[in-house]
Amino acid sequence: QKPVPSDIVVSRSCVPKPIDRLAKEVGLLSDEVELYGKTKAKVQLNIIKRLQSQPDGKYVVVTGITPTPLGEGKSTTTIGLVQALGAHMKLNVFACVRQPSQGPTFGIKGGAAGGGYSQVIPMEEFNLHLTGDIHAITAANNLVAAAVDARMFHEATQSDKALYNRLVPLSGGQRKFSPIQINRLKKLGIDKTDPSALTEEEITRFARLDIDPSSVTWQRVMDTNDRFLRKITIGQAPTEKGYTREAQFDITVASEIMAVLALTSSLQDMRQRLAKMVVATSRSGQPVTTEDLGVSGALTVLMKDAIKPNLMQTLEGTPVFVHAGPFANIAHGNSSILADKIALKLVGPDGFVVTEAGFGADIGMEKFFNIKCRYSGLRPHVVVLVATVRALKMHGGGPTVTAGMPLPKEYVEENLELLRNGCSNMRKQIENAKHFGVPVVVAVNAFKTDTEAELDLVCSMAKDGGAFDAVRCSHWADGGAGATALGQAVQKASEAPSNFKFLYDLELPIADKIRIIAQKIYGADDIELLPEAQHKVELYTKQGFGNLPICMAKTHLSLSHEADKKGVPTGFVVPIRDIRASVGAGFLYPLVGTMPTIPGLPTRPCFYDIDLDPETEQVNGLF
Ligand code: ADP
Repeated sequence: QKPVPSDIVVSRSCVPKPIDRLAKEVGLLSDEVELYGKTKAKVQLNIIKRLQSQPDGKYVVVTGITPTPLGEGKSTTTIGLVQALGAHMKLNVFACVRQPSQGPTFGIKGGAAGGGYSQVIPMEEFNLHLTGDIHAITAANNLVAAAVDARMFHEATQSDKALYNRLVPLSGGQRKFSPIQINRLKKLGIDKTDPSALTEEEITRFARLDIDPSSVTWQRVMDTNDRFLRKITIGQAPTEKGYTREAQFDITVASEIMAVLALTSSLQDMRQRLAKMVVATSRSGQPVTTEDLGVSGALTVLMKDAIKPNLMQTLEGTPVFVHAGPFANIAHGNSSILADKIALKLVGPDGFVVTEAGFGADIGMEKFFNIKCRYSGLRPHVVVLVATVRALKMHGGGPTVTAGMPLPKEYVEENLELLRNGCSNMRKQIENAKHFGVPVVVAVNAFKTDTEAELDLVCSMAKDGGAFDAVRCSHWADGGAGATALGQAVQKASEAPSNFKFLYDLELPIADKIRIIAQKIYGADDIELLPEAQHKVELYTKQGFGNLPICMAKTHLSLSHEADKKGVPTGFVVPIRDIRASVGAGFLYPLVGTMPTIPGLPTRPCFYDIDLDPETEQVNGLF
């Protein structure tokens, strides 16, 4: 069907198969599957045990060159590739993708289910609510926020003894510690389980977290682009007795709990990560955790269903796990380890799991390897690097590309010179993937205005630049049939020797790890730690968090820290403004410049077009 209709029209033109049938096809037993209506299901984690002796399939990560603000088709290519491998080459496949935030869906981005004839369906289910995982994270995150402020309030307004008596109440004439309180006593080095045995000094230490209000790093979240919540004052009602504080909202997907969900490997591991999250520092310089607040067990309860991956399907009926969607700057921007692990077992040794890493290869892929693969223990076989003619022309000196505006003529007419110049960015990103010892296949995502000569040029420049192979693909217009050459190239590359290695050793000092990423991946001369960052290096090293991996919060629109520097910038020093810690998720995130953590709505948001047809109950207006 040409021309290609809008994404929602394509999505709706295909009747999805009942999800329980798909579950059976991929080898799930009926008691391992929890149905959420007819097109979505959750998969229970006990499947990992049942399939533990099954060898894993081949593991493929889709990443991209440095993109334009429009996106270059990583999600579309992830779906196109599994449709090719599964529906056309008849191999066992799974795609593992992130759940999109609802904020951008109603704001400027629209949906994120792929595009054209390469999509996850039904796209309205995928883009809105799904099975409620993001809502569960909102609930859990805000329970922590409420716990922090309530605790500070109660500590400020009560004596040590009164606090203690309320924290360890009398029950049947006796006081008794809860298991979570015994954990806290152990952490404080108080080896007692009988509340009456505590000394006055121990009572004070136990009862008072003594949070320094200016050190609170935990924020409230919501999954809406509500820019007026970027800075707020809380505690203004008279009941809070003047204990007001400046605070902020972040978008839910920026919550550390989302990163925990993405990086966890089991329920027990999630419980431990949810307990280790640091929310503030005490006045004596100690990290205050969610376990100290007594809230970690309740968080695990709120997250018990969210931890199960969500099964959906592509337009061509191949299976997809949609699970977790952490921010790609202040978090690592990759879907969940659990979904990848389950999918690798389900496809078996001859099958393929294709997972996507957010942003360009300098960010999403680097974090995929250095953070996600480090925690999962999984080793990828192939990197697929998505390139487009339009983005390469931009890197070659083409004019600025802006979302919502028509493309300048350089992008719709043949221009081999701009393209040739811009291929430097692709070649640098190929080199970046090769630092990790994994073969790279370049997927040239063809747009209808690209010419034969342009597509050929990109392929030959990619092969010259060290790619294992480079193929053009038309899965957006043609579905899986348009990506079979890519599927074959990926299959071949997966048999090539791969010599996976991490970029840096965790034991190195924090600044050295950041410098290695900046120099080897971004091409920087050096880094500069500004005073706040220097202070955090010292604090985190002292607190024992120095050996966590690094999650750079840098613009995705340039290899450098300046979004307008295209191609392969050289001769720059990356300024590190601050460093924050996501101790539960398990990484430190250096801030290069300021990172917005809740987007705003534009003048004309996407919601103008979204409506429900009351007759058919169809959602209209998503794209
Ligand atoms: P990314 O994952 O890299 O951000 P997406 O896969 O979400 O990119 O694609 C960005 C947008 O571009 C989507 O709206 C998608 O439908 C569209 N798109 C992707 N590939 C093509 C193509 N070959 N031709 C036209 N539009 C495309």
